[in-house]
Amino acid sequence: MTQEQVEVLILGSGPAGYTAAIYAARAGLTPVMYQGGQPGGQLTITNDVENFPGYPDGIQGPEMMEDLRKQAERFGLDNRYGMATGVDFSTPLSHKVIIDEKHEITAKVVIISTGASAKWLGLPSEQRLNGMGVSACAVCDGFFYRGQDVAIVGAGDTACEEAHYLSKLCRKVTMLVRRDEFRASVIMQKRVMHTPNIEIMFNTETVEVLGEHGVDSVKVKNTVSGEETIIPVTGFFVAIGHEPNTGIFKDFLELDEAGYIIVEKGSTKTNIEGVFASGDAQDKIYRQAITAAGTGCMAALDAERYLAEQE
Ligand code: NDP
Repeated sequence: MTQEQVEVLILGSGPAGYTAAIYAARAGLTPVMYQGGQPGGQLTITNDVENFPGYPDGIQGPEMMEDLRKQAERFGLDNRYGMATGVDFSTPLSHKVIIDEKHEITAKVVIISTGASAKWLGLPSEQRLNGMGVSACAVCDGFFYRGQDVAIVGAGDTACEEAHYLSKLCRKVTMLVRRDEFRASVIMQKRVMHTPNIEIMFNTETVEVLGEHGVDSVKVKNTVSGEETIIPVTGFFVAIGHEPNTGIFKDFLELDEAGYIIVEKGSTKTNIEGVFASGDAQDKIYRQAITAAGTGCMAALDAERYLAEQE
């Protein structure tokens, strides 16, 4: 195992991580970032970002993340590929993080911005056909189903946004909604309800995704009548929310029942001195790029103050 000591270590490269990096680098804290399993974070698998202030015409998610990367590197961010695979936060000012199981970094401060990942239904058929017709990212994979019929599970803003995206590529999109109503904001609900090639099936649960080497249909059940129906589709998309990427911290950090890191109100301080949490890893309520960026800024400022207090 190789070893290294750094001042400030940032884990994760979404809007939270890069904003923390910009602030930390400009404050002369010489931050080192490990980008994690999905460099650029969740915005790299989205298309139009229309609600980030400062872009009157909107911007593509990957383009925005590229801009953030360049901005952070301009101020001297040491930006690296690699994934944190273990931590030991038992010694203040000497927190240990293992990268890819082979490199041990000791940092005075760790800023966690590891984000969240897509949730799955947990059906064996969903797992078996993952990548062969089953996907959790319409924007990444929708292109493969041009002119075809697809289904999407979920009733939140993500499901509505992805259903609408798919409706522009596919012949027909069937939305499978488990309750008798959406969770999504009214504007997003209206968007899918007014799209002619989106059919919405309420009170509908997925029983099984069917197909041998690819998806050929999905078996669903009406939760009120109990009736089962087979819908012919070649693509099956899952958009039922996300879970925070915080598993490696669970022995040291206080997490809530859903696994989000608990931070002190109005700050990014965790229960461990010198470990700060930002972005979706600690936010189950807002989960927006702009709020993630805001907490990334807070984490860098909290880190700077903490280091100044130690001197
Ligand atoms: P949400 O948690 O808001 O919604 C998840 C949806 O999946 C719910 O409708 C839920 O159903 C459904 N679901 C969960 N588990 C299952 C299951 N096992 N079977 C079937 N359905 C299931 O997640 P989102 O990813 O949609 O959104 C996350 C956050 O991001 C929200 O705050 C949202 O507003 C925001 N967002 C905003 C966007 C925008 O403003 N442009 C775009 C995308 C997201 P139920 O309702 O029954 O619980």
